[in-house]
Order: sequence, then structure tokens, then C-alpha cells
Amino acid sequence: MGFRVLVPLGCVAAIAATIAGASPPPGDARVGPPNARPAKAVDEAPPAPTDADFARHVERLKQRLPGPGFTVVIQRPFVVVGDEPPETVRHRAEGTVGWAVRLLKKSYFARDPAEILDIWLFRDEQSYRKHATALFDTPPTTPFGYYSHADRALVMNIATGGGTLVHEIVHPFVAANFPGCPAWFNEGLGSLYEQCDERNGRIHGRTNWRLAGLQQAIRDRRVPSFEKLCSTTSKEFYERDRGTNYAQARYLCYYLQERDLLEKYYHRFLAQRKEDPTGYQTLQEILGWPDMAAFQREWSDFVLGLRFP
Ligand SMILES: [Zn+2]
Repeated sequence: MGFRVLVPLGCVAAIAATIAGASPPPGDARVGPPNARPAKAVDEAPPAPTDADFARHVERLKQRLPGPGFTVVIQRPFVVVGDEPPETVRHRAEGTVGWAVRLLKKSYFARDPAEILDIWLFRDEQSYRKHATALFDTPPTTPFGYYSHADRALVMNIATGGGTLVHEIVHPFVAANFPGCPAWFNEGLGSLYEQCDERNGRIHGRTNWRLAGLQQAIRDRRVPSFEKLCSTTSKEFYERDRGTNYAQARYLCYYLQERDLLEKYYHRFLAQRKEDPTGYQTLQEILGWPDMAAFQREWSDFVLGLRFP
């Protein structure tokens, strides 16, 4: 089963790597809830780093590069570091990271992350395991990549494709813009863009490898209600039946996107987060479905009608 991130022509080389015969990315187990550190209220967020801050950051970074052959590219609000050929690293920085950031900001995020975050793009599994372990003191627990809030780093085995990268880019933006965002929505949005392209100038999630398992779970009547999904704590979301949680959250976001409701939902949920921290009331409101059991049947039929690939 493979997945691929689709981005506009011109950056195909940067992202066309396709996973062949790989098992589904397990998400980012190692980080746990990306918002574990107390989030500052959006209004109190410190100012964005300056050019001088970036220059200092890059100087320090260059001193701790794990070996020769690494290229460092500033791609605000990130710094991209990779050990593929310099041209490829630059291509990924502009074509994948820059592209995703531009479109995600257009749809959702007013603020950049307050701190400079590094995106490490290791060229293959060997480089990923060896260098991530040396740099961050713990070996990766996923074959694809993860976001570590503590290390201020997104760490990727980029040979597996750009899907996980776009997923992980969502998390620091959510942390900077949506204090207290529940795990289900943070992961639903992140995983929506594991497979994405651009439509009418907006970022657009496509069906992906998470679909088949979700369809099976729907047929087996193993998918919880949306009330239940929305009310999961981070711990429950990440630890209990994770595959279904990610897929259910992703395909709720996908459904909203296809009804042209996802951006509206994000912004209204953000505005109402104090009164409705789980997002469930806002979901009902946006959908205009007083009978959520009926909505779940409609959503289940919608999902069962989707195809991937
Ligand atoms: Zn995630």
C-alpha cells in the first residue's frame, strides 16, 4: 500500500517519492499530544523570529550537523536540513515545505510558530535512524517521521515520501494558533494532508491509505459516535484504538472539506473553543444536523462510497 503527496507541477521531484509495500505510518506516537506544554493564549504569543534570529540559529545548527553533506535552507518559519544533494534539499524546502506552509496559512493559520523549528530530512532509513538517535538521544519509533515539540524539530525519513512531512507541519501551526486544540482535530487535520494537492488555490486532502481500514471498521460497526470521538482526551486518542481514531478524524475532516465546510468549521471552533472545547457542538452547528445518529449514517455511507487508490 503506498501513498503519495501530490503538489503542483514544478515540485514533483521533491515529493514524488512513493512508498511501496510499506505499512501505514503509525502517526507520531513518540510525541504524544503535541500541545502537552501549556500553550500561551494566541493573543499573548511572542513576536515572530527576526532575520537575525534565523541567522544565529543557522550558525548554531551548522555546528551540530551530524556529518558532512548536509544542506541547510531557511524556509520560514522553518529551517530545513537534509543530506540529499543540495539541489534536492532546496527543492523540498521550497516545493513541499514552502508550498504547504503558504496554503495552510491561507486556509487556517494567522501566526507562525513562535520558535524556529528545524525540519530534518534524512535521505534514507539508515541515515534517519542513525542521525536522529545521535541528535535527539532516542531512536525513532516510527519508520516515517515525527514531530518532537521538546526538540523543536520535525524529523523525517524523506525516502518514504512527503506525506508525513505535510502532516507534521500542521502540528506546530496548530500549537501556535489553536491553544487547547483537542488531539482528534489536530490529528484529523494533519492526517487529511498526508495526501494532498492544490485545488482552486487551496490545499486539498485526498483519499489515502487510511480509508480501507476505516471502511472495514464501519462495516464491523466498530466506529464510535462523533460525540465519543470529540470527547476523547489526548491519552485516549493516542493510546486507544489509534488506527480508527486517526482515520475517523481524518475522514470527518475530509467530509467537511468536500462539503466546503472545513475551513468554516476550523475558524468557528477556534472562536468558540472556550464554550465548546471538544468541538462537538460546533460540529453539530456547522452541519445543521440535529440528529447526529442520522448524520453518522450519512457520513458512513459517504465513506463507504470513497475509493483509494
Ligand atoms: Zn500527527
